[in-house]
Amino acid sequence: MLATVHGEVVRPEDPAYDDARAVYNAMHDRHPAVVVRAADAGDIITTVALAREQSLPLAVRGGSHSVAGHGTCDGGAVLDLGRMRGVRVDPVARTARAEGGCTWADLNHATHAFGLATTGGVVSTTGIGGLTTGGGMGFLARRCGLACDNLVSADVVTADGSLVTCSAEHDADLLWAVRGGGGNFGVLASLEYRLHPIADILGGPTFYPLDPDVMRRYRELIADSSEEFGALLVVALGPPLPFLPERWHGRPLCGVITCWTGSEDQDDRIRGRLAELGPVLGQHVGRMPYPVINTLFDELLPAGLFHYWKGLFSRGLPDAALDVYAEYGATTPSIQSATVVFPLDGAVQRVAPDATAFAYRDAGFSAALSPAMPTRAQCEAQVGWTRAFADALAPYSVGGGYVNFMDADDQGRDRVRSNYRQNYDRLVALKRHWDPGNLFHLNHNIAP
Ligand code: FAD
Repeated sequence: MLATVHGEVVRPEDPAYDDARAVYNAMHDRHPAVVVRAADAGDIITTVALAREQSLPLAVRGGSHSVAGHGTCDGGAVLDLGRMRGVRVDPVARTARAEGGCTWADLNHATHAFGLATTGGVVSTTGIGGLTTGGGMGFLARRCGLACDNLVSADVVTADGSLVTCSAEHDADLLWAVRGGGGNFGVLASLEYRLHPIADILGGPTFYPLDPDVMRRYRELIADSSEEFGALLVVALGPPLPFLPERWHGRPLCGVITCWTGSEDQDDRIRGRLAELGPVLGQHVGRMPYPVINTLFDELLPAGLFHYWKGLFSRGLPDAALDVYAEYGATTPSIQSATVVFPLDGAVQRVAPDATAFAYRDAGFSAALSPAMPTRAQCEAQVGWTRAFADALAPYSVGGGYVNFMDADDQGRDRVRSNYRQNYDRLVALKRHWDPGNLFHLNHNIAP
């Protein structure tokens, strides 16, 4: 059945098998029966038909960053889109159509040539497919909305093997569902984004002592600064980089990763605001092309680390929650681990909570508790730390947790339903329509 595939078909006996089955998160060491490295939409249709007709579990993989391990499986078929990386930019309409296996590096590279950008993740190796279908938070969210808010159409291969182009005009309910509903509704062969005139930015990290007062001032800075100020709060160990004095390397710190997309005239004012947050221990903030800020963490986070994450939403950042961030931040387990707080106000909140599947429009912040470890031996302690941290933050969080930051064990805790809140019933109805047999179940699953 796979004889017509234009890409590559890799089976356990092939030399390429170990490479083909590996995913970014080393926690998930699985052995699929076959990996199809698709070259085009035809290969996607063929692989979907194989899984449907032979009742094989089907794992869909774009950038391979799924923390929960949804990009692989045991004994089933893996549909790897990693060769489908083309991007076509329309600079007049300010849109880009990108194939479903693109990473943010691919998309940013293509759009930056025209002085344009759209909201993507903070690490350039993350896939656009998983990040956008789950919602998509990043530096530009306050100004441009979530990645899914900028998704204007998609070519979707559905469970019955049809290719449906959904947009506001055609199959709008399917577009609604893939804007936050994850990989439940089909395989996005391509995604079309709205772009924004953003070329160069003022950006980079500033590190401070791990002090709740610094975090309080960050909270106030977000509240009173314009939407062009994208800035994430991080709690991490000091990175061994030249701009940070050696005595802070490996010590628990907090930091603000700035991405100011406003006028260059305001750069000094932004630098001044950053200096007011607390004693600056190290800073690497400068003018750069937008795609560059997207690569700052790439080297720190290569494929092959062991990730176990938790995600949560909170309306504000109350003082008591900041004390928890400081307490757990002090025992951050490794240099690759970070707790990252994304502000979700501005353009994110101007979208109605039922306008897309992404339901948490009233959350002011989303946090990723995202430790990553170099070896499996360290994982037990890491999992315990993450769970205890999430439990300690629970009183200051609203229900649910962002699907893209959830781990596999969240499925069983009803976290998926609570992530979708008022939109869950509509998602179930659409799942019954587009995938009644739950072919696409290796995801944060919305059961039909
Ligand atoms: P994959 O493992 O390839 O895919 C995950 C799932 O997404 C698939 O199983 C499938 O269900 C679905 N999927 C992927 N591609 C397609 C497609 N073309 N069509 C249909 N379904 C598809 N999230 C943020 O919001 N903001 C961030 O800044 C951010 N930073 C991150 C940094 C790192 C280092 C990591 C590991 C994750 C980060 N995330 C972030 C979380 C990220 O959004 C999710 O891990 C997401 O699933 C990654 O997408 P992917 O395509 O790389 O993953």
